[in-house]
Amino acid sequence: MVSQVVATSREKVCKTGPIVLLGAPGAGKGTQARKITEAYHIPQISTGDLLRENVAKGTSLGLAAKAVMDRGELVPDQLVCDMVAKRLLEPDCAQGFILDGFPRTVAQAEWLDNFLNGKLFEGHPCKRMPPIVIDIAVGYNQLLRRLTGRRSCPTCGRIYNIYLQSPRVPDVCDAEGTKLVQRKDDTEEVISERLKTYERQTLPLLEYYRTKGRLQTLDGDRDPDQVAAQTLQAIEHGHRL
Ligand code: AMP
Repeated sequence: MVSQVVATSREKVCKTGPIVLLGAPGAGKGTQARKITEAYHIPQISTGDLLRENVAKGTSLGLAAKAVMDRGELVPDQLVCDMVAKRLLEPDCAQGFILDGFPRTVAQAEWLDNFLNGKLFEGHPCKRMPPIVIDIAVGYNQLLRRLTGRRSCPTCGRIYNIYLQSPRVPDVCDAEGTKLVQRKDDTEEVISERLKTYERQTLPLLEYYRTKGRLQTLDGDRDPDQVAAQTLQAIEHGHRL
């Protein structure tokens, strides 16, 4: 796998380098990641999605992660970092990639810095490129509305919000006609735990990246297209930091 990346990457130039999207659960990281993918054609790597896929397939990682995720806590760093390492060495990451939901602890951020500068990444076009770090800041009440109202289509993955962006027919996907579902960890009890976990374990990351002069913070309370315009500007600006 590693040699495959090296072979592919020789002909490729890194477009954006690594992009790290930070923000509380419900801040809109996934939405912004999809907009960056459209603009730059680089993959979105959502650790939450990867873990949910593992849970659905019943892999050993999924079995280890499920109970922790159901409680709204964080999966152990080592498990998540190994999963991310494997994903970043896939050929589609050669021109850059968006990390959505990773890192989430200072230990994960340190691991990422070491990985990007380390042996396994040797020959990768994005090697040694410091990540562009964008924090999407959203007020607490808005986060709660976004998370408790979030529903998704199990067929096409489209995301709705029963308060902010409802489907034409209640609880039914506009495109597929499928009944919408709520994520298991989007219930009020688990949401409150996820937000506490964010404050305790992920907020210190802002200081980590601020000290390195990499942090850019956006106003994520605005509508998604306005946030996207700020996000794309931050990516351009991030290259000059
Ligand atoms: P998300 O979809 O990003 O809200 O993630 C859903 C759940 O997956 C989180 O509440 C955590 O249990 C787990 N998770 C996702 N990303 C990470 C990470 N970087 N480190 C540890 N756990 C994670």
